[in-house]
Amino acid sequence: MPVDLSHCASCGQPLTNGYYVLIDRPDRFCPQCIATRPRCDTCGAPLGNRFWNLHDGRRQCDTCYTVAIYDPAQAQQLFQQTASMLTEGLGLRLNVGVAFRLVDAPTMTRLRGPVQPGLHTLGLYQRQNHIRVIYLLYGLPRLVFRITAAHEYAHAWQTEHCPLLRNEFLREGHAEWVAYRHLLQLGSQKAAARMLDENHPYHQPLRHLLALEAQLGVAGVNAYLTRVDG
Ligand SMILES: [Zn+2]
Ligand SMILES: [Zn+2]
Ligand SMILES: [Zn+2]
Repeated sequence: MPVDLSHCASCGQPLTNGYYVLIDRPDRFCPQCIATRPRCDTCGAPLGNRFWNLHDGRRQCDTCYTVAIYDPAQAQQLFQQTASMLTEGLGLRLNVGVAFRLVDAPTMTRLRGPVQPGLHTLGLYQRQNHIRVIYLLYGLPRLVFRITAAHEYAHAWQTEHCPLLRNEFLREGHAEWVAYRHLLQLGSQKAAARMLDENHPYHQPLRHLLALEAQLGVAGVNAYLTRVDG
C-alpha cells in the first residue's frame, strides 16, 4: 500500500500545520494526533480510528497487527528456525537446550519482576535449576520477534558456555551482536543498520562487539567470550 504523505496517517486530515514522523516508518502524523491520540503499544504510533485490542490490554496499530506473531505453533516454528540458523551460521550450539514459551504481557511482568513503568519486556531468558526457558511476548512484529529470539538465545548460550562471564556490557553486547548477525542472515540489512543507530539502547555495547568481530572474526568473538572471567 503506498503511503499518503500529504495526509495524517492517524486521522486522515491534510497536513497543513507541519507533521511528525516516527523512526522506522514512512507515515506522517499531524501535531494534534501526536499530542492527543493514544499510542500503539508496539511501535508508539498514534492510533487511527481502526486499531486492535489484544486480550491482555495492549493496543496495536494496523501496521503492527498485520505482521505480528500470535499463534504459538507459528512462534515455536520461527523460534526453532532462529535457533538452527544461529547454531549453523554462528556456531552457537546448545548442549542442554532451552524451552520456548509465548506469553502475554501480564505473564511477562510476573516472570520479570518490577521494571520501569511503561517499559515493555519483549523477551526473557530464565534459568531455574535445570529448567531453562526463553519467553517471548505474543503479538510482536515478525522482525522484532526474530531480534528478540536471537538476543535471548544468545543469553542461553552464554549460560552454557561462559560460566564466568558476568560483565553486563559484554553479555548484552554479545546478545545484541547475535541479533544483528541474525538480521543479516535473514537478509534484513535495513533492520540491522537501524541497530547501529545512536538512539538504540544497546548501541555502544553492539559497536564494541562489532569491533571485536573485525579483529577476531565471528568464531573468535564467541571463543573470546568463553574465556572472559568477570
Ligand atoms: Zn492526525
Ligand atoms: Zn504499531
Ligand atoms: Zn539481554
